[in-house]
Amino acid sequence: MHNLHFVPTPWKVAKSRGMVHYISPKPCRRGHYSYRPVNRSDCWECKEETRWDKGHRIKRMLLAKAIGASKMGLEFDLNENNVDFPEYCPALGIRLDYSGSDREANATFDRIDPEDGYVARNVRVISGRANRIKSDASHGEIRSILNYIEHESQLHHRPA
Ligand SMILES: [Zn+2]
Repeated sequence: MHNLHFVPTPWKVAKSRGMVHYISPKPCRRGHYSYRPVNRSDCWECKEETRWDKGHRIKRMLLAKAIGASKMGLEFDLNENNVDFPEYCPALGIRLDYSGSDREANATFDRIDPEDGYVARNVRVISGRANRIKSDASHGEIRSILNYIEHESQLHHRPA
């Protein structure tokens, strides 16, 4: 966030000053005095609350995956207790989003063995970004790209 002003400012004033976030003199409908983006009306604190309404989101993730797995003819035995729903992506270290609103940090189910089903022994929860990178490339390709990046950056930083 930038352009922070800790003084409650009417929306029109915030808009005319070109502010990005503002605090409305009126609370949001759930009673928060917190930051809102000027170009939308959602309250930052409400967003944080739904972001961490993790239990609800996890139930929806499980239900959607149970249906998906059955359509694909894959085994499914996941529930809230046999899978770990971490706060951070174990692959990228970014904070996982359980609100479903962040495409990159969105919590997703990853199958370790793509041949195996959505069963606890085979599933980890990782970010959508890590999941896409993983499914786009093989182990060998990821290692090869990493080698390339490290090699090139060493050449780049070598003193002349
Ligand atoms: Zn609110």
